[in-house]
Amino acid sequence: MRGTYAVPYASRGSILGEAEAKALEQLIGSDGSLSAGSVRDRFEKRFREHIGTRHALSVTSGTVALELAIHLLDLKEGDEVIVTPQTFQATAQPLLGLPVSVRFCDVDPDSLNIDPATLKSLITDRTRAVLLVHYGGWTAEMDEIMAMTRDRNITVVEDCAHALGAMYDGRRPGALGDIGCFSFHSSKNITTLGEGGMITVDRDDWAERLDRLRSNEVDGDFSPARHQGLITGRELLPWMKYASSAYEQVCSHIRCPGTNATLSEAAAAVGLVQMDRLHGLVECRREVARRLDEVVARHPYTRLQQPRPGVRHAQHLYTFFVDGPPGLREAVIRALDVRGVEVQLRYLPLHLLPEWRERGHGLGECPVAEKLWFSQHVNLPCQPGLSDQQVDHLVAALDDVLRSEVKGLSCLSST
Ligand SMILES: *Cc1c(COP(=O)(O)O)cnc(C)c1O
Repeated sequence: MRGTYAVPYASRGSILGEAEAKALEQLIGSDGSLSAGSVRDRFEKRFREHIGTRHALSVTSGTVALELAIHLLDLKEGDEVIVTPQTFQATAQPLLGLPVSVRFCDVDPDSLNIDPATLKSLITDRTRAVLLVHYGGWTAEMDEIMAMTRDRNITVVEDCAHALGAMYDGRRPGALGDIGCFSFHSSKNITTLGEGGMITVDRDDWAERLDRLRSNEVDGDFSPARHQGLITGRELLPWMKYASSAYEQVCSHIRCPGTNATLSEAAAAVGLVQMDRLHGLVECRREVARRLDEVVARHPYTRLQQPRPGVRHAQHLYTFFVDGPPGLREAVIRALDVRGVEVQLRYLPLHLLPEWRERGHGLGECPVAEKLWFSQHVNLPCQPGLSDQQVDHLVAALDDVLRSEVKGLSCLSST
């Protein structure tokens, strides 16, 4: 069916145009470095000012951001990490290779974010970190969560892959927990030409470590001649006395075993322009969501996402729930599909993935997340690239489907 939908669930979540092309043209025309240069520095500055953290470090993807964040935690055997099950697999993927014990924390049935009361019941003396997501762009209840974790030396990692453009009581995700991880993948609210990510932190020592982990840039702070014990009278080989100036050179060295995962100048140039567009892009998403909400609110057996005042939903995903007789959600999805609307369910709860089942996780661990995913949850397209006609089609199809499927049910029950 893919490609034939009137309203596809598109793999591009942003809009790019003239301004991005111009920024790239400028970069190509310049003769500066294309790696780790001044454009990247400007993008990072813009990003940290937007989020409100002391530091923002660009990386090549959201997954890498999460990997480096988890690396920072120095987790040891026996440590416990609490993770939301309702997220994309990348959130917890770095934990698969570690000897830690993972506790999946069930979610709130409206926001699909980790439920603070359940979180509280899972915290033990061995809990070292919480990995949460702001599902779909609705921020988790961070004040409650931080109040539980702050004094216990538990690090809260926010997976903000959906949450760029969201607000939480005047603050932005990425500045609410201890470490924020963003994605600029093609499908996200902004993109740096398909792949990219950012890590936000306040702590200077973490920023410094992250910078070393994500790049092997020449630092020029190492002088062979001055390096302790390298040159002693006895070690001086015969040719060395003719090359004494080389020993006075400042050289780079490895510093710490990391990788090279910083953003290219081209990606950063596009990212800078996309930051100008961010507000408008999110407003487009919110407008589609508002129109869909109006339809959902009119029908029985459905439930809306309604964040409390103070939370601005970034609407990376549009989610609603079919809360009716068994089979109704499936009937609604099938009928939408027939009317050319591509529906996707994001995401199968992580603890049900084979990799986590192999580690002893499985059905029954997070009953709310499971029940919603298996029988209630629906995601509809809401990307800003939809034309007015597509949005009209989507809204009309949803109205029609909810009306006819529910009518079908009442016919059945009256016979
Ligand atoms: C997209 C996404 C990621 C991974 O980001 P990439 O940039 O694709 O590596 C992580 N977590 C969530 C919730 C995501 O949606």
